[in-house]
Amino acid sequence: MPVDLRGMLRGADPDALHKELQDVVRSEPFRRDGRGTDRVARVHAQLRAACAALGPARELTLYPRKLSAFMEWTAVAAPDAVPAFLLHYQLAVGTLLALGEGCAELEEYLAELDDASAAGAFLLAELGHGGSGPGLETRAVYDATTGEFVVGTPTTRAVKFMAGPAHPGAARTGVVAARLIVDGEDHGVFPFVMRLRDRDGRPVRGVTITPLPEKPFPPTDCAVVSFERVRIPGHALLTGGTAGFRADGSFRSSITAPRERFRQTIGQLYHSRTSLAAAAMAMARAALVITLRYAAQRQVPGSGGGTVPMLAYRTVQRDLFTGLARVFAGSLLAERAKDGVAVPSLDREADELFVMVVKVLLTETALQTVQMCRARCGAQGLFPVNRIAEYLSACEEFVTSEGDNQVLKITAGRRLRRCPERAPSDCASSAWSELMAERERRLRGRVPCPAEEGDDFDVWNAQVLPAAALADAHAQRLAVDALLEGAERCTDASDAEALTLLAELHAVDHAGRHGGWYLCEGLLTPAQASRIEKRTTELCDRLVPHVPALLDAFGIPDDLLTAPIAAADYVQAWRDVLQLQ
Ligand SMILES: Cc1cc2nc3c(=O)[nH]c(=O)nc-3n(C[C@H](O)[C@H](O)[C@H](O)COP(=O)(O)OP(=O)(O)OC[C@H]3O[C@@H](n4cnc5c(N)ncnc54)[C@H](O)[C@@H]3O)c2cc1C
Repeated sequence: MPVDLRGMLRGADPDALHKELQDVVRSEPFRRDGRGTDRVARVHAQLRAACAALGPARELTLYPRKLSAFMEWTAVAAPDAVPAFLLHYQLAVGTLLALGEGCAELEEYLAELDDASAAGAFLLAELGHGGSGPGLETRAVYDATTGEFVVGTPTTRAVKFMAGPAHPGAARTGVVAARLIVDGEDHGVFPFVMRLRDRDGRPVRGVTITPLPEKPFPPTDCAVVSFERVRIPGHALLTGGTAGFRADGSFRSSITAPRERFRQTIGQLYHSRTSLAAAAMAMARAALVITLRYAAQRQVPGSGGGTVPMLAYRTVQRDLFTGLARVFAGSLLAERAKDGVAVPSLDREADELFVMVVKVLLTETALQTVQMCRARCGAQGLFPVNRIAEYLSACEEFVTSEGDNQVLKITAGRRLRRCPERAPSDCASSAWSELMAERERRLRGRVPCPAEEGDDFDVWNAQVLPAAALADAHAQRLAVDALLEGAERCTDASDAEALTLLAELHAVDHAGRHGGWYLCEGLLTPAQASRIEKRTTELCDRLVPHVPALLDAFGIPDDLLTAPIAAADYVQAWRDVLQLQ
C-alpha cells in the first residue's frame, strides 16, 4: 500500500496512539529536572506513572505494537527506564500471561503487577553461567507431600546475576528460571513465579538480595539474588499447560527435550528483543536529529580564514548520511519485526530467527551510530543534557541484554545455514542488492554442516566465524532490501528517490568495508572498488536536499529532545540553560 515516509515508520499505528504515548513520557516523573538524585527510585515512579496512564500492565502487554511504540518514546525521553519496563511488561507479565494458563491463583500476582504496586523481574542469568540454559543451577525441588516447590541456590556460581530487585523501595515479583527436580531427577529449566520483596520492600524469607556496585549508566537496580529453601506453591510453576504432576506425584510433560523446555521458559525474549531493537532505533533516530541540527549551525574553520557549518564538510556528511541510511533501514526492519510479533506467521522458527537477526543488527547499528554522533558533536556530545551520552550508555547495555549479540549472531548464522536461499526478488532489487545477496549465498555455503551439541568442540568451533559472518551478511542485505522496498511503496517521487539514494549509500558503504572480500571473490573489479569513494560523495551530494524530509519522517517532537545543541540557536540555548548574562 502506498504510504508517506512517516507512515512507513509508524506502520498501522494512528497518530493519536503516538500522541498518547508521548504525553506519558512528558509527565512529571519523566522530566529531566530533578534526575540524578535517586534515579532508580525515579524509574519506579515512571513505571507506576506508565501503568496509571496506559492502564493495567497486562492490557498493554497484550497489545505488542503499542508496547513497542511506548518503549520507543521512553527510549527517546528516558532511556534508563527501558530495561525496567521490558522486565516488567514483557518478561514478568508476559511470561505469566503466556504460560500461566489463566490460572486463578496467579491473579494476585498479576493484580499487583497491573498497577506496578509490585515491579516485575526476570531472573535467568547466573554468576557462573550467564543466560545459557544447560548450565543453570538454581533448583526448584518438588515436594510431593505438599505439592510445593523448594527453591534453592546450590553454589555461588548459581546466584542470579544482574536481575533488578536491588531497590528496597518497592514490592517485587519475579519470574525465576530454575531447574525442576522431581524425586532426584532433573527435568530441565522452567519458569517459576515468586515474590522477592514484600509490600514493604523487604526481601521475603529465604531470599537474599545483594546490590551490585554502581555502573556508569543506566542506573538499573542490579543485584545478585540467592534462595535458601524458599517454599512456593504448586501453581508457581509456569508451563503453559504442557506439563504437570500425575496423581502419583510423577512428572509429565508434552515437551520431551530439555532444550525445548528451556526455549519455552525464555519464550518472551522474542517479544522483548523486538521492543529493545525498536527502542535502540528510536535512540539512534533522536541522536541523528540532534547531531544533524547541530552540524547545520555549528561554525567550524573553512578556507581563507572564514567559517562554514560543520555539515558542509564531506567527512561529516559521509558519517551522518551513512548513519541515516543505516538507521532508516533499521527502523523499517523494526516495523516489520513489530508486525510479526503482533500477527505471528505460521512459522514460529522463522519469526524467531528474524527477530534474532534484527535485535543484533539494530542494537549494533544504534551503538555505532550514536557513538559516531557523540564524536561528531565533539565535547557537546559528552554532556547528558545533550542526550547523546545517555543514549550511548543505553546502547552499550542493549548489545548484551536480552541475549549477547555475538552469541545470537552465531546462533542465527547456524540456523540460516539450514534455511532455503532467498528466491530472486521480483520487486525490490538493484545491482548492489544482488551483490550483497551473492555474498550471503557464498557465505551460506561456507558454514560447515551443522554440528550437534555433543560433537567435538573443534568441529563446533569451526562453525562460529563463518556462521557469524553469514548472519551479518544476511542482516546487511535485509537492510538494503528494506530501503528499496520502502522506495517502491512511497507515495511521493521525491521520497522514493531519497530512499533509493539511502539504499545505495548503505550498500556502497558495506562494499567499502568488505572491499577486500569482494575483490578476492571477483565480485568487484579493482576499477569498481576504486570508484566507491567517489560514488559515496556523489550520493551524499544528492541526499543533501532530502535530509529535512527524512528527519521530519522521524516525527520526534522538539520538547522530547530538550538538548541545547538541538535548539534552533544552540548558543542561545546554552545561555538559557546556564543562565549566562
Ligand atoms: C543491562 C542488562 C540488564 C540485564 N538484566 C538482566 C535481568 O534482569 N535478568 C537476567 O537474568 N539477566 C540480566 N542480564 C544478564 C544477561 O542475561 C547476560 O548479560 C547475558 O545473558 C550474557 O551473559 P554474560 O553477560 O555473562 O556474558 P557471557 O555469556 O559471559 O558472554 C560474553 C562473551 O563470551 C562469548 N560467548 C559466550 N557464550 C558463547 C557461546 N555460546 N558461543 C560463543 N561465544 C560465546 C561471547 O564473545 C560473548 O560476547 C542483564 C544484562 C544487562 C547488560
